[in-house]
Amino acid sequence: TSFGFKSVGSGEKQGMVDAVFHQVARRYDIMNDVMSAGLHRVWKDAMVTALNPPRHPGFKVLDVAGGTGDIAFRIVDASHRQAHATVLDINRSMLGVGQERAEKRNLSENVDFVEANAEELPFGDAEFDAYTIAFGIRNVPDIAKALKEAHRVLKRGGRLLVLEFSEVQMPILDKVYDAWSFNGIPALGKAIAGDGEPYRYLVESIRKFPRQADFARMIEQAGFDRVRWTDYSGGIAALHSGWKL
Ligand code: SAM
Repeated sequence: TSFGFKSVGSGEKQGMVDAVFHQVARRYDIMNDVMSAGLHRVWKDAMVTALNPPRHPGFKVLDVAGGTGDIAFRIVDASHRQAHATVLDINRSMLGVGQERAEKRNLSENVDFVEANAEELPFGDAEFDAYTIAFGIRNVPDIAKALKEAHRVLKRGGRLLVLEFSEVQMPILDKVYDAWSFNGIPALGKAIAGDGEPYRYLVESIRKFPRQADFARMIEQAGFDRVRWTDYSGGIAALHSGWKL
């Protein structure tokens, strides 16, 4: 497979994203550790701490682009197994790995898996207390549409949390990070998964994603209030938060 970096139509983009994640699903979790030097765990834990799920039953969270269930499991654990999480992903291979992990952890009652597109959520209005999406929104062709859907399915008082790679805010670190992502990540992808191209594509998608302030504006345009963000690791990642009030 070979992925071009020219700008592509949204159907084509989704096709490439799907191919990447079908290919990497089995090795996805280990690749995350290797490529972020374990940092993705720290960022995900910080996201769940920000969400602070209550330790009583009834809290319903939708984790979109939830892949292998990483965020959902963390949320359920943080709630002392009280919360219910729905993992939604467009990719059946990723969901399959997630389902196996849920069974192994005895979390099948707290977590369910739905194959669908973030742009068209198969839920009614105002069903969820929280909507989370980690390292997923940059892969969605129509981000504005996905954010509108997030707003629609949240209850009043519900919260949106978006964790995504972002713009590095520190001199020197930005150079190191560029060198790592353009050379190191595809090389590692090739060594571990046998093909560097999917990772090259993913790195490119990070570069194209709007910077912190611009993305915050997009969230506001979808109807969210009190939109804020926090940089993690000098802005390698950022957590955006908004409320449906
Ligand atoms: N949230 C997980 C994590 O943080 O480990 C997985 C993130 S993974 C980098 C991105 C996920 O987004 C993939 O599982 C992919 O299938 C999913 N995805 C891509 N486009 C999507 C779409 N339009 N709707 C829903 N999920 C999508």
